[in-house]
Amino acid sequence: MRPSILFPLFAETRTLPGVGPKVEKLIAKVAGTRLVDLVLDLPSGIIDRSYRPKLIEAELGRIATVAVNVLDHVPSHDRRQPYRVRCSDDTAAIELVFFHAYADHLKRMLPVGGKRIVSGRIEKFKNRLQMPHPDHVLSPEEATTFPMQEPVYRLTENLAGKVLAKAIRAAVEKVPVVPEWLNEAFRKQRSWTAFDEALQIAHTPTREKDLLPEAPARMRLAYDELLANQLALVLIRARMRGIKGRTIKGDGHLKKKALAALPFALTSAQETALTEIEADMATPARMLRLLQGDVGAGKTIVAMLALLNAVEAGGQGALMAPTEILARQHMASLEPLANAAGIRMAILTGRERGSPREVVLKALASGEIDILAGTHAIFSEDVQFHDLALAVVDEQHRFGVHQRMQLQGKGEKPVDVLVMTATPIPRTLALTAYGDMDVSRLTGRPPGRKPVETRVLSAERLNEVVDHLRRAIAKGARAYWVCPLVEESEKSDLAAAEERATELRKALGARVGLVHGKMKAAERDTAMAKFKVGETSVLVATTVIEVGVDVAEATIMVVEHAERFGLAQLHQLRGRVGRGEAKSSCLLLYQGPLGETAKARLKTLRETDDGFVIAEEDLRLRGAGELLGTRQSGMPEFKIADLAVHGELLSVARDDAKLVLSQDPDLKSRRGEALRVLLYLFERDEAVRYLRTG
Ligand code: ADP
Ligand code: MG
Repeated sequence: MRPSILFPLFAETRTLPGVGPKVEKLIAKVAGTRLVDLVLDLPSGIIDRSYRPKLIEAELGRIATVAVNVLDHVPSHDRRQPYRVRCSDDTAAIELVFFHAYADHLKRMLPVGGKRIVSGRIEKFKNRLQMPHPDHVLSPEEATTFPMQEPVYRLTENLAGKVLAKAIRAAVEKVPVVPEWLNEAFRKQRSWTAFDEALQIAHTPTREKDLLPEAPARMRLAYDELLANQLALVLIRARMRGIKGRTIKGDGHLKKKALAALPFALTSAQETALTEIEADMATPARMLRLLQGDVGAGKTIVAMLALLNAVEAGGQGALMAPTEILARQHMASLEPLANAAGIRMAILTGRERGSPREVVLKALASGEIDILAGTHAIFSEDVQFHDLALAVVDEQHRFGVHQRMQLQGKGEKPVDVLVMTATPIPRTLALTAYGDMDVSRLTGRPPGRKPVETRVLSAERLNEVVDHLRRAIAKGARAYWVCPLVEESEKSDLAAAEERATELRKALGARVGLVHGKMKAAERDTAMAKFKVGETSVLVATTVIEVGVDVAEATIMVVEHAERFGLAQLHQLRGRVGRGEAKSSCLLLYQGPLGETAKARLKTLRETDDGFVIAEEDLRLRGAGELLGTRQSGMPEFKIADLAVHGELLSVARDDAKLVLSQDPDLKSRRGEALRVLLYLFERDEAVRYLRTG
């Protein structure tokens, strides 16, 4: 139950003065529907009204606040003509101009013979000074207390800045004095004000500096938000760990057979990761572990061995991939190992329907199938495992803490969960999203993988690239050609890819395949398969290949419009080559002129191959919000905290959360009670439910 002290903040915005149904909808677009959304929507700029010139010296186009005498009113005779109010100071005259004006209102606001302070943009029209629709018209008394700086908020079409600012001001006035949830010594050491005061300050910036994420008020609020995030994760983690799991301890006989069938030995990083995973599975507590490793680091085999461990212990395993291509690829590469171990593996995706699906479901329920690979289809309602012991989730950044918690609802007995992520995630981000998990990191690469030579070229040199391709293909090389990512327009992505494929066919006379997101799954698989066996030597693709296609023979990666991709994406794409023995190259074609960020991005890629370094850099260049894309990324979204700036606060919050919960696991102390308010304020209600006494 939300504490009553927060009720005012969770009221709907329509309860605010000046917010009717129309404005409410517009505000919902930029901030949200409740007061809390408004108060956490901090200003993005300032309007400075402190420029107070005499009229004769006023700079045109600039916001000015001027003191004038009202001379007379010139009503309009015609709707298209504005209503004008003539004014002057002792240096010059100016006309205040109003379209669609109400005369009575204006007469009251600007009485003839009165003195007024008006603020707005000064312009010149037909050689006369004008101020169209002044933002403010004040009496000299009002002007003495009027703030000369006004916060500016992000707007949307049809939402007037004044209207939003007014609503936010009213919302901020409703912010209650909440009990302090920060450690007092810590707060003092940082010289932070109380929460409500920090909000007031954040909404009344007077200098540009106040808008920076480093401004003390914003720091405090960011810390509050991060602390709520970390508290929630630590609580969830404690809860997950607290669930009695099962001891999963294989005897190694299947693993031995599989390892014998592998053409290589495990690297020591893989051994270490596997040991960690097996030790975790062996404890009676539930496993919730992240296996983090760069593209091609060799996570899949580690996951497979962990699955075999579960099967040895008499359970079943599940391996879930984010896309069908990837699921099938896992199946193709792992089935031989399953066969070598003498166990049964099957696949289930959205594509299996009707009786083939029934057959799989039956065999799964009876326990005949030991390991099931697939897409999220394997966790749909009607899929019943006989005894699921370990679930492996691949490429997990599309998968949030909520889904992880859902996973555990599968089967009566708790399921151990291993999450693989190929996107190296900066430490700070990992903490916000995976703070509830233990982490195994696969560093380094399997032996035999050579660094990929990366070149950044202007798109004007496309012909050279095509020539290079022609020569390479003649020698039997295989190449990916990734086409531009056009924002929010799959159609044009597709058109670009199709056009490129046609041109390359002409230019190379080679077999050129095409794969894109709009294809039917079967067609896509066929195109992939043809490339894999070498029937086609160039594969033109939209970004569908991003998520982990494995064709060891491919040695060239061309990316068009590389400037439109994020660093992590480019890194992932590059990871598609350099998988075999031969030397590989990645050609990043850009369309100039490049912005600073794009330049920095491409430079980073040329200079390093370390996914973790790249991820940190990506975070720095783009900020967390964009880093992993959309809402569906499963990454928490922060309203105030900016991880590129507040990363340091995050680890402090982490330690803070852990310490508090170790001393006060049920948040019963005075600070504990206050922290509950914090959790509700930032809507981590779910976590509060995990407290033994809600
Ligand atoms: P990830 O899933 O981490 O992206 P994969 O598991 O797909 O990486 O492995 C990439 C490639 O490296 C695969 O072709 C795999 O067979 C190979 N590989 C994995 N482990 C080793 C190893 N210890 N020695 C040599 N090759 C390996
Ligand atoms: Mg992989």
